[in-house]
Amino acid sequence: MNKKITLFNTYIHTSAFKNVKSVLDSGFLSEGKLVKEFEKELSEKLGLTNPVAVNSGTSALHLALVLAGVGPGDEVILPSQTFIATGLAVLYVGAKPVFADIEYDTGNIDPKDIKRKITKKTKAIIPVHWNGYPCDLDEINKIAKGHKLIVIEDAARALGATYKGKPIGSLSHFTCFSFQAIKHLTTGDGGAICSKNLLDAKKSKTLRWFGINREKAKPSLLGERIFNISEIGYKYHLNDYAAAFGSANLENFKKRIAKRQRFAAMYKKALGKIPGIQLFKEDNYCKSAYFLFGLHVERRNNFIRALKDKGIPTTIDTFGLNHHKVFSKYKTNLPVNKKFNETQINLPVHDGLTEKKIKYIIDIIKKGW
Ligand SMILES: *Cc1c(COP(=O)(O)O)cnc(C)c1O
Repeated sequence: MNKKITLFNTYIHTSAFKNVKSVLDSGFLSEGKLVKEFEKELSEKLGLTNPVAVNSGTSALHLALVLAGVGPGDEVILPSQTFIATGLAVLYVGAKPVFADIEYDTGNIDPKDIKRKITKKTKAIIPVHWNGYPCDLDEINKIAKGHKLIVIEDAARALGATYKGKPIGSLSHFTCFSFQAIKHLTTGDGGAICSKNLLDAKKSKTLRWFGINREKAKPSLLGERIFNISEIGYKYHLNDYAAAFGSANLENFKKRIAKRQRFAAMYKKALGKIPGIQLFKEDNYCKSAYFLFGLHVERRNNFIRALKDKGIPTTIDTFGLNHHKVFSKYKTNLPVNKKFNETQINLPVHDGLTEKKIKYIIDIIKKGW
């Protein structure tokens, strides 16, 4: 192995260098026409619905909750098995996070437990596509409709995934993406909020920039914008140099996702029958974007050590939000999540790897642990 195997990669397309340089040369760095272009490409190339670019996935989640009208006294149902940002966004709006259990064989929120956790105070559900594998969105949206709840997908790890042939980012009321450095598509840092409702998309554009409506606030004779904001806005917009970077990385995005899917298929084929390993379940109508390749393994510490000795990084990634002090006051009863976290482990599957390296990882695992 010539190059080290890493858990993640930060992909920078060769054309990003000239794209970003021309933005720097122009001297216009803030949000402008390149952000608009990037948004247009996200919808045309990836089928996202009304994407509005922001400066992070966390900002996208926060905006979605604001737009959903979630506030103090409200409850939001989400899995504990996620990155802290999902839960923090709920705290930003002063609502109460209610953790639902997950499915043992996907790591995704269990719709049956969502139903059990709904109360009169519930306002929204945040399904998280754990490691890029789509949640049961038909079922979750059906539950939401029946109880008049808003679905906000945390798709930070699922850009490029599909559910029943449709892209994630086109299915629920809101979908939030992250373009952070190690996510599938990076802009350095960035994100997007997709809204089924065009009015919400328009509001996102206003709220991402202090609550100023740029379309309406035309510059005066002196070139200053005249505005009078009517609600609390945020400083969440994306910059043009980040958008230029994102557009460059979109050029071969689908190819790179296909590469991850090929690597995952290699893992599935080779590891499925090894004693001590249980692969996650994948329905044929869900296509994962594979942020990582998750599986269950017996004698996990031995497994981690055996791979580490051969230069292969693995990660447990998270034990869940309820393990963090800030969330500890929210009582949880998550038996499946607890069991999930006793054996789950993740292998690298990013497109910076090669078939040769995946074969090497498989061979090492086959040797035992
Ligand atoms: C990365 C990530 C986020 C946060 O995205 P940022 O762009 O870093 O703010 C939210 N949720 C999940 C599941 C993530 O993996």
